[in-house]
Amino acid sequence: MHPPIGIDLGTTNSLICVWQDGQPTLIPNSIGELVTPSVVSVDNDDSILVGRAALSRLTTHPNCTAAAFKRYLGSSKVFELGNKKFTPTELSAMVLKSLKADAQAFLGQEICDVVISVPAYFNDEQRKQTRFAAELAGLNAVRLINEPTAAAMAYGLHEEQSGNTLVFDLGGGTFDVTVLEYSLPIIEVHASAGDNYLGGEDFTHELVKACLSEWNIKPQDIATDDYARLLDLAEQLKCKLNGEKMHNLTWFWQDKQWQFSLNESRARMIWLSLLNRLRAPIEQALSDARLKPNQLEHIVLVGGSSQLGVVRELVTKLFGKLPYRHINPTTIVAQGAAVQAACRLRNADVEEVILTDVCPYTLGIESSSDNVRGLFSPIIERNTIVPTSKVKTFYTTHPQQKYISVAVYQGEHPLVKNNVLIDQFEVPLTPTEELQGIDVRFSYDLNGLLEVDVIIHATGQQHGKVIDHSPIGLTEKQKQESHERLKSLKVHPRDQMPNRTLLARLDRAWAQSLGDERSLIGSYIETFLTVLDRQNTEEIETIRCEIESSLTSLDR
Ligand code: ADP
Ligand code: MG
Repeated sequence: MHPPIGIDLGTTNSLICVWQDGQPTLIPNSIGELVTPSVVSVDNDDSILVGRAALSRLTTHPNCTAAAFKRYLGSSKVFELGNKKFTPTELSAMVLKSLKADAQAFLGQEICDVVISVPAYFNDEQRKQTRFAAELAGLNAVRLINEPTAAAMAYGLHEEQSGNTLVFDLGGGTFDVTVLEYSLPIIEVHASAGDNYLGGEDFTHELVKACLSEWNIKPQDIATDDYARLLDLAEQLKCKLNGEKMHNLTWFWQDKQWQFSLNESRARMIWLSLLNRLRAPIEQALSDARLKPNQLEHIVLVGGSSQLGVVRELVTKLFGKLPYRHINPTTIVAQGAAVQAACRLRNADVEEVILTDVCPYTLGIESSSDNVRGLFSPIIERNTIVPTSKVKTFYTTHPQQKYISVAVYQGEHPLVKNNVLIDQFEVPLTPTEELQGIDVRFSYDLNGLLEVDVIIHATGQQHGKVIDHSPIGLTEKQKQESHERLKSLKVHPRDQMPNRTLLARLDRAWAQSLGDERSLIGSYIETFLTVLDRQNTEEIETIRCEIESSLTSLDR
């Protein structure tokens, strides 16, 4: 019997959760934490590190480390880690592989089938890449669930909710808004909207920009590792903010200390344009759901960045009510994915929940009129309930046409050039004197993946050009190469991760400090290396715990 498993593969943090004894149980990783940073680093001995140790190396070894790669899924961006090159999909696969190993160690059995959550606003290509990442990790993504929908499932399960609810999910790199209605056992998603390029990362980058502008330093004058240290400090400063109390950041650069002070009022000014960008998706989701802000019963905040005071304040102002606070915004998506996995397997412990979701964007094809080419003709309109199948008739533009070209786009603009191309193919025709009609049918499934069928009126012939579910432009050969590349990688041994993680944390603390504090951290490094050399497991564990708590008390 395979246990139901849900995975939240986040831009910043990833989690894996199993449905066990009638509830979702989060699985700890090799260092005992429930949250694994979605960061990958190539270590000095060429082995791959994933998680907290890799995150520390983002500060000390930025050129060998990659973070926030989920933002580039489906793009042509390549990450260079030392002398190795990886696609965002391959990096995502390494995170999934690490989560898989944690789950297998925890459960004492192999796992394969999983439910993976994706941002509601992820496009077709990004969803395909997520599936391919799972395949590379030796997992089968039996279902992709939209993150806010997953959160809603876990939330509904706990709270026996009813009424209209807005899920506001602001993570590290994406922003999703979903409006849904509970009348349990039915959860009906009415609308989703979002911004795939807005998240906590942007808030941190704005702080770095503000620092540099105050200090009159040009970004191009700073070396990569100095910049990485500043980014790390800005991230810590951001998470400390509370009310009007001033917090300081101290950066050492070119033999000088650079100081920057921040409280919420100042942060609100720096983030003005980012905060304004949060409004549009909220307004769109509400208007698509035909609701006014005062018709919402609950506001659920999800995602690490929803903990920012200025964000909570904006939400409270927009809706005139306080958001619901009793959930953990970082873990709820993974928990919901596990609930979905249990429902899928019709687990006896989980009460039947009937969930309807929507396609968050408009899908259609390119067409042309007598005068204008490149028009976008919608077939499935945004926020249509899924699964759905819609058909529309098109005509050839001139007699004797030998084929018709079908270009599938996603987006909200009347001209295709401003939308996202999903696929393109040609359907052969028997040339005739008259113009020919064809039906184009779009079927959009529960995973958010699209299939297209074309039927030629004259012959009744059907061209089941089903849109390839493998990522665009990736040939079988390239897929195979990805498989090989990942197979050949040496992964850092799981049982050594606690030690490796502490070493990386010490290196980072050393890089971020000066003077007495730096000497103290230097002495910890020396002690720990000596103890590691003696290979006495018990002694290593004792010293590791001691040093860990000393670092925590130093706020490092
Ligand atoms: P994702 O879903 O993208 O993996 P998370 O939901 O884990 O991300 O959120 C990560 C983001 O939350 C990061 O940008 C991080 O800076 C931010 N974050 C985490 N904790 C806090 C906090 N206490 N205050 C403000 N931002 C936070
Ligand atoms: Mg998330």
